[in-house]
Amino acid sequence: MGNRVALLPARRSARNAARIPAIADLRLGWQEQARCQGADARLFFGPEKERTRDREAREGEAKQICASCPVLRDCRAHALGTPELFGVWGGLSEADRELATGSSFGRRIPRPRPVPTR
Ligand code: SF4
Repeated sequence: MGNRVALLPARRSARNAARIPAIADLRLGWQEQARCQGADARLFFGPEKERTRDREAREGEAKQICASCPVLRDCRAHALGTPELFGVWGGLSEADRELATGSSFGRRIPRPRPVPTR
């Protein structure tokens, strides 16, 4: 038997959504003090194909928020330990974390281009 995807009826989804606890009840630990709460997530997570200049500007803005974050150390340790592959965490971009860990997350390795055939 193949995998089956169950779709919840709208009224059931709404009932489940009503059960989602308030953020304050989630007890997220250090994340509750994150300076980036309420910030535009697009600052921390860029689109897949982003120009270098745009990425540097965006990451710079995100890092400015991180610079005044009281839980920067916890966030950075989490990002490096997990590891988080995408986005700015603990003041470190994806490239910063790759340098820090000495490992490539595989996204920056250029894929071989197909050789045109005639
Ligand atoms: S260090 Fe940056 S990404 Fe991490 S919680 Fe603080 S503001 Fe958010």
